[in-house]
Amino acid sequence: MLKDPTLLKTDGLIDGQWVKGKARFDVIDPATGSKLADVADLGPKETKAAITAANAAWPAWRALTAKQRHAILMKWFQLLMANQDDLGRIMTAEQGKPLPEAKGEVAYGASFVEWFAEEAKRAHGETLQTSDPTKRLAVLRQPIGVCAAITPWNFPLAMITRKVAPALAAGCPVVIKPAELTPLTALAAAELAVRAGVPAGVINVIIGTDAPAIGKVLCDSDTVRHLSFTGSTEVGRILMAQCAPTVKKLALELGGNAPFIVFDDADIDAAVEGAIASKYRNAGQTCVCANRLYAQDGVYDKFVKKLAAKVAKMKVGNGFDEGVTIGPLIEDAAVKKVGKHVADAVKKGGKVLTGGEKLKGQFFQPTVIANATADMLVATEETFGPLAPVFRFKTEQEAIDAANATIFGLASYFYARDIGRITRVSEALEYGIVGINTGIISVEQAPFGGVKQSGLGREGSSHGLDEYLEMKYLCIGDI
Ligand code: ADP
Repeated sequence: MLKDPTLLKTDGLIDGQWVKGKARFDVIDPATGSKLADVADLGPKETKAAITAANAAWPAWRALTAKQRHAILMKWFQLLMANQDDLGRIMTAEQGKPLPEAKGEVAYGASFVEWFAEEAKRAHGETLQTSDPTKRLAVLRQPIGVCAAITPWNFPLAMITRKVAPALAAGCPVVIKPAELTPLTALAAAELAVRAGVPAGVINVIIGTDAPAIGKVLCDSDTVRHLSFTGSTEVGRILMAQCAPTVKKLALELGGNAPFIVFDDADIDAAVEGAIASKYRNAGQTCVCANRLYAQDGVYDKFVKKLAAKVAKMKVGNGFDEGVTIGPLIEDAAVKKVGKHVADAVKKGGKVLTGGEKLKGQFFQPTVIANATADMLVATEETFGPLAPVFRFKTEQEAIDAANATIFGLASYFYARDIGRITRVSEALEYGIVGINTGIISVEQAPFGGVKQSGLGREGSSHGLDEYLEMKYLCIGDI
């Protein structure tokens, strides 16, 4: 099935060696429930070995010139793109997203490697004006040290490259702990990094089922100087607390509860397209997926009708099948959560316009619910599934207040044409990202990240490199 079957790695990677470990665990295809592979179940012992290997590899890696690191990262980028089909296939098999979407993620994930390969050459320091003619002031920017990356299953490649590429570009080695549900994409990407010339110990991959134990070792380590995590707010809080004793630098990309607001002056057809792109991508399993849709009184009926009509035409099925736009959900628990949100909404007066039912296996119909209200679970909890609840509002302020009434602050979206309104609403939304007249916002050159309890730090863009660099101020006297 793969053009290059040797990309299918099933062991962890420590110090350039593929490590089998004592135990194994199964990787399951969420579309069929069948076993895809059994992979190494590594734990604290191997995690410690990976940290030691990373630290040992650090001096030589940081000593390379930025241009040398750039060349290796560019090679990795080229290999990721050259193997786009195979990586996409591995991803669809273990994660479930439709194959075109998976290939799209490969390109998106690879774009961070290209971007940070370029940024590697721009990790400039500074010289400052002096206040004393006998002194000179300068700032060096140096790699922070061994970095840990804990990543989720919803973007099995991009969440890794978004952390690992800037770390490597800055001159840092990494220990990656991919989600246990999607280790195969991570391992294939690591294999390509090895082929690209990333030296032994600079990239290590610990796959295993005991995430809390692996995470604890990474957090407790004095050697690990930076932890980047993408996942739930709940786990993010645990990691933050665990990193306090070693005062680790943290980057956290946590949960969202994205509002998607359609104002009376919006282009309704465009808003429907944007809502579908934002809500149903990856079957609703992204932290920037619209979670709460708000439509203004004057366009509410038209918007929900058009949205439901389009959603009803979406094809649910195995991500490998032609024309499928909604794959399976990652786990049974995810299917149950969507079912619970639908039942709760219906009980509280929500009207199912399309979908609403669980299908065989781990599939759920793409669903639109009208008459959503603030007391429903969907108003406060991230559904992480293909359910679009549509709330009605009257005034601009009402929409802003409702949108901001959450502990989260990652992505938000709105559709409007009036320039005054666009300016006011953009400024008022308490979110790290605002999509205006678009449902697609993620690109490598823009800073991705949240405010409030959606996280800390930014990934991508030139700011994404700063995470992995420490500033050192030099005050040179006696000139
Ligand atoms: P999601 O809801 O996306 O599954 P999680 O936060 O549960 O998000 O998982 C994201 C990543 O965090 C995965 O790699 C998972 O294995 C890991 N993880 C889960 N719990 C812990 C923990 N206590 N410590 C460290 N990592 C964890």
